[in-house]
Amino acid sequence: MTASREEGLSAVATGVVPVPFWINGARVASRGVRLGAVMNPSTGEMIRSVPLAGAADVDVAVQSAAAAFPAWRDTTPLRRARVLTRFRELLEKHQKELAGLISEEHGKVFLDAMGSVQRGIEVVEFASGAPHLLKGAFSESVGRDVDSYSLLQPIGVCVGITPFNFPAMVPLWMFPVALACGNTFVLKPSEKDPSPAVRMGELLKEAGLPDGVFNVVHGDKEAVDALLHHPQVAAVSFVGSTPVARHIYAVAAAEGKRVQALGGAKNHAVVMPDADLPFAADAIIGAAYGSAGERCMAVSAVVAVADAGDALVRELAVRARALTVGPSLAEQVDMGPLVTREHLQKVGRYVDAGIADGAELVVDGRGVHVRGHENGFFLGPTLFDRVSAKMSIYTDEIFGPVLVVVRVSSLDEAIALVNDNPYGNGTALFTGSGAAARIFEHAIQVGMVGINVPIPVPMSFFSFGGWKQSLFGDLHVHGEEGVKFYTRTKAVTRRWTNAGAAGAFHMPSLG
Ligand code: NAD
Repeated sequence: MTASREEGLSAVATGVVPVPFWINGARVASRGVRLGAVMNPSTGEMIRSVPLAGAADVDVAVQSAAAAFPAWRDTTPLRRARVLTRFRELLEKHQKELAGLISEEHGKVFLDAMGSVQRGIEVVEFASGAPHLLKGAFSESVGRDVDSYSLLQPIGVCVGITPFNFPAMVPLWMFPVALACGNTFVLKPSEKDPSPAVRMGELLKEAGLPDGVFNVVHGDKEAVDALLHHPQVAAVSFVGSTPVARHIYAVAAAEGKRVQALGGAKNHAVVMPDADLPFAADAIIGAAYGSAGERCMAVSAVVAVADAGDALVRELAVRARALTVGPSLAEQVDMGPLVTREHLQKVGRYVDAGIADGAELVVDGRGVHVRGHENGFFLGPTLFDRVSAKMSIYTDEIFGPVLVVVRVSSLDEAIALVNDNPYGNGTALFTGSGAAARIFEHAIQVGMVGINVPIPVPMSFFSFGGWKQSLFGDLHVHGEEGVKFYTRTKAVTRRWTNAGAAGAFHMPSLG
């Protein structure tokens, strides 16, 4: 069966197996009737259907998480950490299986999918340090015979709403830390590739997680809005596009919930004339075209400084032309398809717009032919030179294998260009100069910065997050900021002697 996403929806009646919800430690069917199509982007075929939850389904999942909360909150951090340690072992054991599901439903190549699960496993490793992460502070003798200390306590039912491009890794940025801190969780993964989330629910149960602590519902805006308005949801973590992130932030905050909403990106790699250009080109090619450009940390704009431009574009073009495009689960493929036919068409329209706007099309990925996969959603690597900051191929997040080169005359001009961009997720500088690197890392208005590192994704023990329109909210995910997000602080001030001014009328003025 070959179908676009819309055609796939009408084919649901043919009995393609639905992906279940995961609620209270079991696979559960939806109570509703709305279904979506899960496609294999490499073949263009519909492979599963996905139930799209309504408010009733969402309520069952939230109630399950709310019921499980008191016992999980009162489970010691050490015991919670042991469950996560067993979960980490199971993720490693089933890494290939999860990566296979990701490759099948998302379209990224298998090794890339393996790497993404690995980055998720590292967050579980971090969260397994729960007893240490949850230590509060203690001050002896804040007053005479009086001590103060702080407790970090869980906040309740936490929700994760995640994008299609990392169906395992992005949820793993969230729920291991939330669970380690004693919260329970409802995950609403992308309806485009929902299977890894359910599989992780099963692995958590196998690891010893009590039923109801982790739940999965599928769906679209209707499910998300039901979660945002649900009175028993305490906190919302979102990762996805900027318009939806803004909506999530506004609605959840108005409901009085704690919220972190990570949005889209346009990540610049600035290349100085003193950089090692072949090294920079190798790094940029992987960062631009890996996962077909469907990464929030993909390099999508190169800023060539002074006379770096001509040589760099030559180096990039040779490498882009040499990439192998093919089905995600085939051997020796560099780049798989885009996630849906609609997305392929959208990215194609950007290529048309770039040409119409007068950019120089150096490598044209349109019309790429993958033998035996004629209905897959493929676009080859595409490279534009002499792009201006007004063109839509520069201003918009394309989220596909389209790399644009903007030429500027100085580092200052490059920094100003990056800082003027509304997004601020990641950026990189390629240079041989420590002085240039220092100026760049100090002045740049971006949350994650690489120096001769193209995709500067922080390790799990640092926090991940952008600035400006790449993040709405105060705290980044995982690392120390993740622990802050999933806990609230209580300050205790105590005295165990009856001597002193217990009944003083005035505010105490001296320690
Ligand atoms: P998306 O915003 O379309 O969807 C994200 C989630 O929101 C999904 O679960 C989806 O079901 C839900 N959703 C979609 N439309 C909604 C609406 N109108 N109301 C409520 N919920 C809605 O994003 P996507 O296409 O799945 O993912 C790609 C985007 O995610 C890109 O913009 C990418 O940059 C971004 N992203 C950002 C980061 C980051 O760390 N900043 C990481 C990964 C992806």
